Amino acid sequence: MPELPEVEITARLLSAALAGATVDSARAPGLATMQTFKPPLDALAGATLERIERRGKMLLVWFAGGGLVTDEDPEGRAALLIHLMSAGRLQLFEKRATMKDRTARIVIRLNGGADGFEEERELRLKEFGTRQSAWGRLLRAADVETDERLSTLGPEAWPDTPSFVAAAGDASPGDGPPLALPPRRTLRGALRDQRVIAGIGRRWADEVLWEAKIAPLRRAGDLDDDERAALSAAIRSRLDEGIAGYVEKLKLPLKDKMPVPERVHGRAGEACPRCGDTILAVHYESDEMAYCPTCQTGGKPYKDRRFSRLLKD
Ligand SMILES: [Zn+2]
Repeated sequence: MPELPEVEITARLLSAALAGATVDSARAPGLATMQTFKPPLDALAGATLERIERRGKMLLVWFAGGGLVTDEDPEGRAALLIHLMSAGRLQLFEKRATMKDRTARIVIRLNGGADGFEEERELRLKEFGTRQSAWGRLLRAADVETDERLSTLGPEAWPDTPSFVAAAGDASPGDGPPLALPPRRTLRGALRDQRVIAGIGRRWADEVLWEAKIAPLRRAGDLDDDERAALSAAIRSRLDEGIAGYVEKLKLPLKDKMPVPERVHGRAGEACPRCGDTILAVHYESDEMAYCPTCQTGGKPYKDRRFSRLLKD
């Protein structure tokens, strides 16, 4: 599940390697992957890859020139917006993809780059599993900021982490821009909603709420000033730490499996690294919410349907 820290490091590493590379060809063997057809993906041929950025949990790969040049757009600037969803990865390969690579969704062949590599390489959006949910859209530069996937994003969770306020219009109590979370939503739901705050998903929501010692299913509107400050500080420190850990560990080529820096998410049954109590989880259809009852819920466990079912059987 690539979230802000994983996507941030992917963007940094690929950008450092590929800035200045020239596109030889671009195609999308994943049939459902490309969401736009104007400009077409093959217009990238001859263009220069300028840089790769992160927006929330998405990637923006900027290009200029080549087949993107038109009368209206003489510089031919465009960006490929990519969402990795839950099982996608953007990876760099030195060998050409064989046609049998069923995980390849978008394949961009490139020559050169900032790292001085001389052979042809491939930037590949791959997706593991049989579902095709990762997607890309190629947007003219003028259309990037107004694209609904970007224009509806909330403020970035990092590095300029918002300072949470009780109500919209309140002055910021901290360094970051003021942000009022929707009061009736649960904290875990609000933090994962990209339109509220951008970059956090299920893994890092669990990490952040554990760090702040706040119960994940509390209503956002029920927090007091100290808790709101603790939540803001926890987002900043956990994401800082996550990214710093990746900077040390990750190099190109990026592996299929990203390292797991979690203290609580995915660790149900293990000891809480802070208090030693057993970490519990609530299971949803395609999600698992982990928390420490001693640190976060006053010692009271949440009901878990799967767990209750096991007891009944
Ligand atoms: Zn604990």
